[in-house]
Parts: sequence; C-alpha cells; structure tokens
Amino acid sequence: MANPSLLILAGDGIGPEVMAEVKKIISWFDAKRGVTFDVSEGLVGGCSYDAHGTPLTDETMARAQEVDAVLLGAVGGPKYDKLDFSVKPERGLLRLRKEMDLFSNLRPAQCFDALADFSSLKKEVVAGLDIVIVRELTSGVYFGEPRGIFVEGNERVGINTQRYTESEIARVARSAFELARKRNNKVCSMEKANVMESGILWREVVQEIHDKEYPDVELSHMYADAGAMQLCRWPKQFDVIVTDNLFGDLLSDMAAMLTGSLGMLPSASLGLPMANGRPKALYEPVHGSAPDIAGTGKANPIACILSFAMALRYSFGMGDDATRVDKAVEKVLADGVRTADLMGPAGGTPVSTAQMGDAVIAALNASL
Ligand code: NAD
Repeated sequence: MANPSLLILAGDGIGPEVMAEVKKIISWFDAKRGVTFDVSEGLVGGCSYDAHGTPLTDETMARAQEVDAVLLGAVGGPKYDKLDFSVKPERGLLRLRKEMDLFSNLRPAQCFDALADFSSLKKEVVAGLDIVIVRELTSGVYFGEPRGIFVEGNERVGINTQRYTESEIARVARSAFELARKRNNKVCSMEKANVMESGILWREVVQEIHDKEYPDVELSHMYADAGAMQLCRWPKQFDVIVTDNLFGDLLSDMAAMLTGSLGMLPSASLGLPMANGRPKALYEPVHGSAPDIAGTGKANPIACILSFAMALRYSFGMGDDATRVDKAVEKVLADGVRTADLMGPAGGTPVSTAQMGDAVIAALNASL
C-alpha cells in the first residue's frame, strides 16, 4: 500500500519555526514506528507571493487536492498588509479551504491539567476538559446572498443573509456524528430555532440524520445563546458540539480560550471522503504568524504538533499514535517544560521552540 501522503505548507512568520518541530516528529515516526510519510512541501501566503506573485500557485493547489492531508503553519505579516486584497496571504488559505470544499471545521478545546491555572475559569471547571466544536465552514451568513451595503431612501442598509440547504446541514451533521462515535458518542447541536427559520431547518435536519443514520449517538439540541452560557458554566457536560458558521466562529473561540494559550490550539478542516475513503483535510494551528516573536525562538510549537496528532487520528486512522503524541505533550507540560507564552506568575526559565520539540521527542521515546 502507498505511504500516507502529506503536503507541508509552513507559510510565514513563526509558521516554519513551529513546523520544524513537527518535522522532527514525522522523522520520529519513520525511525521508531516504521510509519513513513510521503512528505512534499510548498509555499503559501506571503512567502508564495514573494516567490510567485500569488499567495498560492495552481501547482500547489493541485498538490493539495492529491495528498491525504495538508499541514499548514500560518500565513501573513505586516510586510503584506498593504497588498491588494486579491493577493493578500490569507487569500491562499481561503482558496485552499474553498477549492477543497472543507465544510467541517473541528476545533478542540482541551485543557491539560498542568495548564488549568491559565484559564480565566476556576480550575475544577476546566481541568481535564476535552470537547470538540464542529463548525460549518463554507456556507451560512458569511456566504449567503443577497449581501452588501445598499441605499434605501436616504440611508444606507447593510445586508447579510443566513442561508442553509438541507444537504449542507446534513453533511456537517454526519461529520459531527462520525466524530462523536470516535469519542464519547454525544452530540449537542446549537442554533437559534426560537427566532430563525434557518435554525428550525437546522434542528430538523440534524434530528433526521440522527434518527436514520446515527441512532446510537446521544443527541441534544440547545439554543446557541444558552449554549454559550453552558460552555462557561460547566463545559465538561459536552463532548461534540455542532453548529453553523457564525455561531461556530464565536463559540469555538470562546471554548478554545477556556483552556489558556493560543499557542496550544490545533484545528482540522475536513471535506468529503476521497476515493481512498479519507476525507479531504487541512490541519493547522489556530494561531497566526505571530510577527512580534517570529525569529526569536519563542514560539510554542504545541498547537502545530497537536494539529499533526489530529491528522494521525482523522486522516490516517492512527488513533493510538495520535494519543501517544497527545500524551507526550501532556507529560512535557506536567514536567514543567514551558515556552514563554506558558510562563505563569511564578516565573521560571522558558524553553525555546526547538527545546520544546526535543522535549516532546524525548517523551515519545519514553513511551515506547
Ligand atoms: P497571532 O495569532 O499571530 O498572534 C497573537 C498573539 O499571540 C501574539 O502576541 C503572538 O506572539 C502570540 N502567539 C501566537 N501564536 C503563538 C505561539 N505559537 N507561541 C507563542 N505565542 C504565540 O495573531 P495576530 O497577531 O492577530 O496576527 C498576526 C498575523 O497572522 C496577521 O497577518 C494575521 O492576518 C495572521 N493570521 C493568520 C492566521 C492563519 O494563518 N490561520 C490566523 C490568524 C492570524
């Protein structure tokens, strides 16, 4: 059978720095676990603009469509702020998401015990938290027509349209149910069926898909505003939350920050299954290119490392190895190894990006 294939797009700023630590882990899998990835690399964002005058070339786009998974670092930086909108670094990322039709965005909110003090919530509320928000990513109010700013009478009116088809709701619901089956078998769907027709349809379709295809999964429904309250009050009541593009944008940012630093947050964006049964997939840390610390060796590589662990779990069917990587990160943090962003008020000496990567490798070695 062909080796699993990965396209690495490290991007700009700290992207290449954090990705260097993931490459160490990929080599570790080759040397210690006999899993060889067929790795290719390309440019995305500002570095691609510098080299080719576009944030993503057609060749790189085509390669992204062929591989089993794309792993992206981060794009952007002040150097590119004045570029025309059409060639801004972020357009490269948006093109990948759009052309790969990545409609299901998985944002885990996981709180390692060692970092529970970093949350703005009480330690007992967040310690051990492990939930995933599945956000619909390619439709809804960010895309619906009509949209724009129009003149009506003697004033302007701003319009955006929340629009969902049954099939768009069904496919993201399936993605959430499939995910729940690999976890604790529980899905909570969030919308505003009390005030929005699109919310009524959302609730009906999620329930229908559940009843016909996933009756074994526990399903509940919640209004998104109540969901936000429950996420702050007792987030551990959830396992998988599925919601639309707008509510998912807000709820996933909120849930993620329950757990502390931006340098810890991975994400996955999944599309429909390819011929080999694997979903189209792009994995990336939630953070950006962090120009304020780029080149200083201060970046925390854990978000990117955990994004790779998600690729192992969701693209390569290597759930045990994904857990091995998660546990290695947990051990490193429990041992008190911290990059600068994870230094608490107690202080101490932070490790560099490379030292954090090496510590994870040492923990992986110890796991054998
Ligand atoms: P950012 O996420 O890059 O940084 C926000 C803050 O968090 C900064 O202080 C940064 O130093 C810190 N930080 C982020 N990641 C860190 C890590 N791994 N380790 C330690 N500290 C970390 O967001 P920003 O400053 O708003 O944006 C900077 C650039 O990144 C902009 O050009 C923006 O457009 C781009 N951006 C890209 C993505 C992406 O590639 N997906 C996402 C967000 C922002």
